[in-house]
This record gives sequence, C-alpha cells and structure tokens, in this order.
Amino acid sequence: MAKRIDVSDLNVYYGAFKAVEGVSMTVEPRSVTAFIGPSGCGKSTFLRTLNRMHEVIPGGRVEGKVMLDDQDLYAPSMDPVMVRRTIGMVFQRPNPFPTMSIYDNVAAGLRLNGVRNKKTLDGIVEQSLKGANLWNEVKDRLSKPGAGLSGGQQQRLCIARAIAVQPQVLLMDEPCSALDPISTLAIEDLINELKSDYTIVIVTHNMQQAARVSDRTAFFNLKATGEPGRLIEIDETT
Ligand code: ADP
Ligand code: ADP
Repeated sequence: MAKRIDVSDLNVYYGAFKAVEGVSMTVEPRSVTAFIGPSGCGKSTFLRTLNRMHEVIPGGRVEGKVMLDDQDLYAPSMDPVMVRRTIGMVFQRPNPFPTMSIYDNVAAGLRLNGVRNKKTLDGIVEQSLKGANLWNEVKDRLSKPGAGLSGGQQQRLCIARAIAVQPQVLLMDEPCSALDPISTLAIEDLINELKSDYTIVIVTHNMQQAARVSDRTAFFNLKATGEPGRLIEIDETT
C-alpha cells in the first residue's frame, strides 16, 4: 500500500510568482520525511503538489514530475479529484467536518469511494479510529459531532479520516502547531506507529519534532523574500 514518492525538477507557481524551484527528491515507502525551513520557503506549497491540491488554488500551476511508484500523478489520464481523495492530508488546524458525527467524519471518504455496507463501514471506522489511537476515547460517542472533541482528539480524528481510505501517502502540514504539548506527543507517537504502513511527509517548524518523528530531514531555504524556495539537502535524521 505504501508507495515511493519520486519528484523530479519540480517548479511550483502562483500565477507568475515561482514559489518553489527545481526540487528533485525521493521519499521511501514506510518512512517519515520531515520538511524544515524558514517561513515562506515553500514547504506547504511543495507538500500540496504531492496530492494535486496546489491546483485548487487560483493561479496554482505545477511543472515537473511526481511519481508514486510507477504512477505519474500529473499524467493527463489522472483525475486530480481522485488523487486528492486517495492521498490523505492533515492540516495545521484540525478540520473535522464540525457538524458531522465522529462516525460520519471517518465514513465520509469511504462512502465517496462507494462503500455502502453498514457492517463494512462499521469495521473500517473502528479500525481507523483504533489506528489513530482514538477508539477508546470515542467508542461510546460515535454519533456526537466531531467539533465536540478536544483539539488533539480532533487532529487524531482527522488522521483517522485520512487513513480510512487506505491512502498511498499521508501528508501532514504542521499537524501539531495548534496543539498543546501533551496532544503533540500523542500525535508524534501516532506518526511513529503509522510509519510501518504508510509513506509520510510532515512539514514542521520544529527541529526537535523532526528528530523525534522522521527518518530523513529535507532542508528548504530561499535567498530572499520573493525568491523561490529550493531544497538544499536531505539528511538522515540523527
Ligand atoms: P504557513 O506559513 O503556516 O503556511 P501562511 O500564513 O504562510 O501560513 O499561510 C496561510 C494561508 O494563506 C495558506 O493557505 C496560504 O496558502 C495562504 N497564503 C500565504 N501567502 C499568501 C499570499 N501571498 N497570497 C495569498 N494567500 C497566501
Ligand atoms: P512555507 O510553508 O515554507 O511557510 P508557503 O508554501 O506557505 O511557505 O509559501 C511559499 C511562498 O508562496 C510564500 O512567498 C507565500 O507568500 C507564497 N504563497 C503561499 N500561498 C500562496 C497563495 N495562495 N497565493 C500566492 N502566493 C502564495
């Protein structure tokens, strides 16, 4: 299930503005790669090219190649909506569907993928919530709205929602920045557990966090404001 990401000669634009230039890199399956770099160097922008979310932004344009194993994400035959649906993304602010129940938050993507059988849905929802280390906290309140959970629980719900559809890759954009230290540790533990099943890329501001969760750290930088961000080097995380 976990796939290798192979990026070559990627340039990313907002209209005429080039935000990311000349990125080539590989992310091994069943590993965690952290993106580190100053604000504005294009980490989030680059991340959003890995599930074709960047093109949703007005003026958003991508040059270059992104392969998932032998699948070319930007091939004309690829449906960007399907790509976004199958490559999970977790954001800085936990964003469960607020009025939807906890159960439906996790089931939503499955239903979009055509899973209708109640027993099947029940099973995958339970597995996903267990996989996100949230099951014990919510199993008696599955019909309650997602918005009623704490911030850390909401973030784990978003992770459950992402893994429910068995994503080939899991993208996380500063998933702990809005969380307290205890919830942060819970998410970091979870990332370490998910690593055995997924290819994970995480944007973080925090070197210590990169050290705690990642196998490799990719350092980005930019020469000056208004200049594109570049990948400077990738190191084994020590
Ligand atoms: P972060 O550094 O955490 O990505 P930002 O404050 O840079 O946060 O961006 C927050 C949101 O604003 C993002 O959705 C980003 O795409 C958008 N954004 C950032 N810079 C611009 C810009 N120059 N024009 C329009 N939207 C922007
Ligand atoms: P980082 O995640 O490293 O903080 P971003 O990817 O958010 O960097 O931003 C990279 C550059 O792209 C910045 O100059 C930012 O202002 C710009 N940018 C981000 N989002 C948008 C947007 N929606 N429209 C225009 N420019 C944007």
